[in-house]
Amino acid sequence: MESTKIILDENEMPKKWYNIVADLPTPLEPPLNPATNEPISPDELAPLFPQALIEQEMSSERYIDIPDEIRDIYRLWRPSPVYRAHRLEKILGTPAKIYYKHEGVSPAGSHKPNTSIAQAYYNMKEGVERITTETGAGQWGSALSLACNYFDMECKVYMVRSSFEQKPYRKSLINLWGATVVPSPSPDTQFGRKIREEFPDTSGSLGIAISEAIEDAALNENTKYSLGSVLNHVMMHQTVIGLEAQLQLEKVNEYPDVVIGCCGGGSNLAGLSFPYIKDKIDGKHNAEIIAVEPSACPTLTKGKFEYDFGDTAEMTPLLKMYTLGHSFIPPAIHAGGLRYHGESPIISNLYADGFISAESYHQIEVFDAAVTFARSEGIVPAPESAHAIKSTIEYALKCKQTGEEKTILFGLSGHGHFDMASYDKYFNKELSNE
Ligand SMILES: *Cc1c(COP(=O)(O)O)cnc(C)c1O
Repeated sequence: MESTKIILDENEMPKKWYNIVADLPTPLEPPLNPATNEPISPDELAPLFPQALIEQEMSSERYIDIPDEIRDIYRLWRPSPVYRAHRLEKILGTPAKIYYKHEGVSPAGSHKPNTSIAQAYYNMKEGVERITTETGAGQWGSALSLACNYFDMECKVYMVRSSFEQKPYRKSLINLWGATVVPSPSPDTQFGRKIREEFPDTSGSLGIAISEAIEDAALNENTKYSLGSVLNHVMMHQTVIGLEAQLQLEKVNEYPDVVIGCCGGGSNLAGLSFPYIKDKIDGKHNAEIIAVEPSACPTLTKGKFEYDFGDTAEMTPLLKMYTLGHSFIPPAIHAGGLRYHGESPIISNLYADGFISAESYHQIEVFDAAVTFARSEGIVPAPESAHAIKSTIEYALKCKQTGEEKTILFGLSGHGHFDMASYDKYFNKELSNE
């Protein structure tokens, strides 16, 4: 009998993160200070981030040690399992072998604690007492509140209003772990008040929420800011996913022909794929890497590769990335975690260099795929993760036509237990594509 669940021992959990910046064929272009158009210096980031994270953000060291205190918390759910999707393969009638790495097993239900734990830890080490952040669908806010709770720190979350209203239980989870959460735009910041006056009916956006969280961190003592995706150090923290997956697939003598992940700011895709992209850069293997986005927010497939702000209020440094423009407000689709106008500069660099390709799908076909998965494998996927499932199903059906026995690995970035209202809308035919 071929394996269904491939697990690792605790002591096989990675001891180092992989920093792909060391291996990029085209060097990254630096973040710029918008006032001078000069590269940002570490000092300029110090009001927002602790030194250790600024160093990681700018580091080109290939491997960075994971501190024991972080590994001790990772151990609560890591190494996460890789599953062979035998039942999905059977329903599709495909000769392809489908594997998925399940990050929904973390306490917050997604891959995000891989970086929230690390970020809270480094802030705590430097004496920071309070962290502010934004959240789209609520996954990042809950992951950071979980992390701040482990280290006894305060946490304030600005949650995009459309999600605040659509996902009340994410809000409860954030409160349960002891953090404070408000809908963004909120009355608590200058920028929030301004947007509420100009656009009273706005559903909010990640760009607006980021501006609010940054303003709060900049104006308050002993408060720093934390971002759940996009930045280099976040991509690096997530590489525990791919480093584990490589070991797991080795145990069953497999190497994927294709690695698929949904892509908002890029962190779960980065985490799963960067160790495989290293093999591509080193000329050892040549897995295809696919980023999957919503058609409603098609950053890679329709955006431009240029310097842009990470937020709506133009408070962040300029990042060279694929972007739909920092004033773009995506429709309130249910995959809230994929509603971001920009993209990780590293993912953007790799996409521009052809190491990653991108696809986009509409919301309804993505939910069709989610239901197919839930009815074969049993696991309820997050709507974000269902984008990767949709692409996987398309790929597996192509293999059925050509008879190719390809090996597919996709990232199940999170479970969908907090997305039942979205599933209800799907079944009631109340979902639209925009
Ligand atoms: C936040 C989130 C995403 C999107 O963020 P990335 O940085 O692109 O990974 C995808 N899936 C889940 C479950 C999420 O919580």
